[in-house]
Amino acid sequence: MNVGSSIYRPVQFLKTVGPRRAERFARLGVLTALDLLHHVPHRYEDATTVARISSLEPGDEATIIGRVVSTGVIRARRGLRVFHAVLRDATGQIECAWPGRPWLERTVRKGQLLLVTGPVRFYHGRQMQPREHTLLEERDEAGDEADSESAAGREGADRESAAGRVFPIYPATEGLSHRQIRAIVRVNLPTLLREVESREPFDPGWRSELGIPPLREALETLHDPTALEDVEPARRRLAYEELFYLQLLHARARHRQRTDAVGIAHSGERRLSEAFLRGLPFRLTHAQERAWREIEADMERDVRMYRLLQGDVASGKTVIAAAAMLKAIENDRQAVLMAPTELLAEQHYRTLTELMAEVGVEPDILTGSLSVRERQRALERLASGEARAIVGTHALIQADVRFAAPGVVVIDEQHRFGVEQRRVLREAGERTDTLVMSATPIPRSLALTLYGDLDLSVLDEMPPGRTPVTTGVRGPESREAAFQFLESQLREGRQGYIVYPLIDESEVLDLRAATEMHERLSERFAGFEVGLLHGRLSGAEREDVMRRYLAGEIQLLVSTTVIEVGIDVPNATVMYIEDAERFGLAQLHQLRGRVGRGSYPSYCAAFYSGKEPPERLEAFARTTDGFELARADLRLRGQGNLFGERQHGVPELRFAELERDSDLLEHAWRKARKLVASDPKLERREHRQFARDLVERYGRSEALYEVG
Ligand code: ADP
Ligand code: MG
Repeated sequence: MNVGSSIYRPVQFLKTVGPRRAERFARLGVLTALDLLHHVPHRYEDATTVARISSLEPGDEATIIGRVVSTGVIRARRGLRVFHAVLRDATGQIECAWPGRPWLERTVRKGQLLLVTGPVRFYHGRQMQPREHTLLEERDEAGDEADSESAAGREGADRESAAGRVFPIYPATEGLSHRQIRAIVRVNLPTLLREVESREPFDPGWRSELGIPPLREALETLHDPTALEDVEPARRRLAYEELFYLQLLHARARHRQRTDAVGIAHSGERRLSEAFLRGLPFRLTHAQERAWREIEADMERDVRMYRLLQGDVASGKTVIAAAAMLKAIENDRQAVLMAPTELLAEQHYRTLTELMAEVGVEPDILTGSLSVRERQRALERLASGEARAIVGTHALIQADVRFAAPGVVVIDEQHRFGVEQRRVLREAGERTDTLVMSATPIPRSLALTLYGDLDLSVLDEMPPGRTPVTTGVRGPESREAAFQFLESQLREGRQGYIVYPLIDESEVLDLRAATEMHERLSERFAGFEVGLLHGRLSGAEREDVMRRYLAGEIQLLVSTTVIEVGIDVPNATVMYIEDAERFGLAQLHQLRGRVGRGSYPSYCAAFYSGKEPPERLEAFARTTDGFELARADLRLRGQGNLFGERQHGVPELRFAELERDSDLLEHAWRKARKLVASDPKLERREHRQFARDLVERYGRSEALYEVG
């Protein structure tokens, strides 16, 4: 490859860049010529309404563009120092004054081209007091080629070229201003745009389905728009491209997951699974029915299932998982359920034992706390096939564990589902169907982005007859009343939680705060057993506290956020969250999900310590619908933060905004799957550009997927 002419040539070799600026560009993530093209402005100054200086009248509110012809600081009455600059365009000049900002003398200098906005008034003549000013050009930036044009001749050109234009403002860094970047882009843009033309991956039909411009046009618009309203379609173009390649990545991973090994075609016999579902004391919700049909169809197909079953706490996922397990079992295969902690494994074990008793299946359990003999016995039952339904922790995927004939693996993810787990489970059962359960409601847009390689079943409907947890947002003044209420609940035999956020990065401080809190509350709730749970406890100690809480030996649990796992204590009816403004919506919702799990009415209060509750808390109190909250979270927090929680190396999106661009996302998702179905290796000539771009964008993640 000829680096000198490739679009991947280092940015250093572009006109007016050089090694020093290239270093600074690197800080902005701009390494190649192509990167520079994608380094688009983060905002624009709209100069399309620029007025001629000669036309300004006192009383106007105006935007002008002019070159600085002189500057100075004047001391006005009462010692106020005022910075002055005279701006000139082809039609005239005007004095601008910045009262109380003498330091501008250091940045605003003769020769600069400024865009200023503000009121015009009469003060010894016309004067403008800019509210905003933007430096459009340093004198020496007007073109890097030496410029001997006379200043007077240029002013006319300045205004002419600036009026009717939108000025791009670029993300900048120290030593590389947005103006310098603009000048660099300006001299290189025509060449780069020509080079990028041949890289257009989407044909005209495809683009017109979406109403997006070609790549070249989009980039040109973003760097040099003639009108602000052209910017959004151009952004959508880049957003779509970004979403499409991510979906292509997912679609390829999905394809590999399904075809690397043939799947098990479970029969449609349904002896146990149907008896089980018929025997339930309730009817499935529509959402459960739908999910079950999807899972059943997957399992009966000769292709591996790889499905995410997503639903809020208590939406009825476990019942569906149990049916899937029974489907494997009625095919003389084994069914495995893996949970992230021992406590949760035990909880699932109890639930499944109860659920499956009806159809005569008795689950086994395998966790790290079995004795050597118990473990040996369990391993034998797994290897011989005597064990049919097996519940466990990571202990299930250790080297010496052999299954006779695994048919389905259910993973209860609780936030902890990662590449590593997927890899191990894939090895555990070469051909098994996999069902991942997640109790973290996320909007579909985010689910497609993070888990686009899985198929999606969503339980977006709660079983009937649930009383939502009564939720309030409370200031500090309400605490005593709240404590009295809590006490009355404890007296009635119920249990409660009080949760504190991590107070400090330092665990030591955190521990001290939690401990003090525990002491205070033990006094306040004398006569009740008050437990303490925090991150400094070992896993075993933590589980011990939880067990005592579950058994009712502890009535009130003071905890940091370690409580957040999917623990189920039906007798708990009160959840108080302290310093609630420090939690995200998703986390608040998870915490609230710890109560309201039994037949008792339950209560949640979010205490804030500031003057007013933030909007997030109001949203939290307004609804108990996890999906609605997740969408609100995406809107309020922005996706950047959510991506912080991503679990498998999906790069951040720069142009796409998930909720706003959900139409683009759906389109990209469909297209990518269709494309991979018709040409899995992207070998056809018209698909080669996709293959190349994919490697270039996601070389690392593709490698990740090979493993995971
Ligand atoms: P999840 O696993 O999503 O937290 P579960 O499957 O544990 O939810 O269900 C929570 C509770 O609701 C259980 O007691 C379960 O028996 C009950 N349940 C599940 N589905 C229904 C339904 N369709 N109608 C009524 N109750 C249901
Ligand atoms: Mg199958």
